[in-house]
Amino acid sequence: MYDYLIVGAGLFGAVFAHEATKKGKKCLLIDKRSHIGGNVYTEDVEGIHVHKYGAHIFHTSNKKVWNYVNQFTEFNNYVNQPVAVYKDELYNLPFNMNTFSKMWGIKTPQEAKDMIASQIADLDIEEPKNLEEQALKLAGRDVYEKLIKGYTEKQWGRPCSELPSFIIKRLPLRFRYDNNYFNDRYQGIPIDGYTAMVEKMLEGIEVRTNTDYFRFIRENPNIANKTVYTGMIDEFFDFCYGHLQYRSVRFESEVLDCENYQGNAVVNYTDCEVPYTRIIEHKHFAFQEGSKTVISREYSEEWKPGAEPYYPINDDKNTVLLQKYMELAAKQENVIFGGRLGLYRYYDMDKVIEAALDCVEKQI
Ligand code: FAD
Ligand code: UDP
Repeated sequence: MYDYLIVGAGLFGAVFAHEATKKGKKCLLIDKRSHIGGNVYTEDVEGIHVHKYGAHIFHTSNKKVWNYVNQFTEFNNYVNQPVAVYKDELYNLPFNMNTFSKMWGIKTPQEAKDMIASQIADLDIEEPKNLEEQALKLAGRDVYEKLIKGYTEKQWGRPCSELPSFIIKRLPLRFRYDNNYFNDRYQGIPIDGYTAMVEKMLEGIEVRTNTDYFRFIRENPNIANKTVYTGMIDEFFDFCYGHLQYRSVRFESEVLDCENYQGNAVVNYTDCEVPYTRIIEHKHFAFQEGSKTVISREYSEEWKPGAEPYYPINDDKNTVLLQKYMELAAKQENVIFGGRLGLYRYYDMDKVIEAALDCVEKQI
């Protein structure tokens, strides 16, 4: 009945559906959630766009992807400039001259570089073997102890010495006075919210929400020639080799009778005594006004069945397990695996869109 059954109405599924439909293919898009958008879904609370599954800031250096998303929405000029609270101290992120100057009372890049070098002189780190060594090498002991260690161990639930170094390489380290969290050329938030953007992508496409793939396919085994699957890869194979591990996040959201709670969209809490990793104040992403505000505290947790799988844990153990599932996936001639969960990859939105565009190109 359909050329493609697309499982998951997140960005991968939505982009694939949009492009395949444009190329004349008949698509059915299903999602087990009650809404489209996947993790970028935003809902209106008190007129504020609330990022229901965690703060999402669009950033990319890929002009093709930037032009692509701008067909569906206009972006505002939001630039992410989070701050970090460590006990009673407050620092700018990412690690830049504002951070170093506040931490050490210095002014010049050379002074900052000298300070970092002096803090790691006795460590002799040539090739960092894990996140701890990578962080120490990049930013020195003070920044590691105050701004990285507590946050990272809360976020990942593992010691920094057991985590891969690439996680920290996501963050810029700059010897300029520049608080922009990203190095990318383009950045912003859809003015009408991400849900409206995805709605636009899916105009004219058949979508069924509240529809779980595993039940649906049992009842409709011959519904499509091919399947695009963006759910968890291990679940597709009924966890036959065991569970891949994820980190999940519990969001504790509140509407406050207060115009402006923290003066910034993102405030990270980097010491391990505070149980949450950060507080998001949603109205600041879209420069929204009004007498109320919505905040979300983020508590990072280990994923267990029933929770939302958010961050793949790309350590050695999970990488080996993933390889085994990827071998099974390669044998599925009519199933294409894609997206953050389908490939178990720590993908940003722009990378997911790029991958979906490449995938359609290859398929059709
Ligand atoms: P998803 O959005 O997860 O979509 C997959 C969909 O598949 C879901 O809707 C799910 O319900 C559905 N599904 C799963 N299993 C089944 C099933 N059995 N049957 C039916 N449907 C199913 N990226 C950025 O670029 N900037 C950011 O600031 C940023 N912040 C993030 C913050 C958090 C907390 C997280 C977790 C991610 C963040 N990301 C960010 C990454 C971004 O969310 C992803 O790149 C993107 O949303 C992935 O899209 P996707 O389609 O691969 O997956
Ligand atoms: N990080 C940190 N301190 C912070 C913010 C981030 O140590 O205040 C580290 C942490 O290890 C985190 C990584 O940098 O996992 C990447 O941060 P990013 O904000 O990119 O994570 P996201 O939640 O967007 O994936």
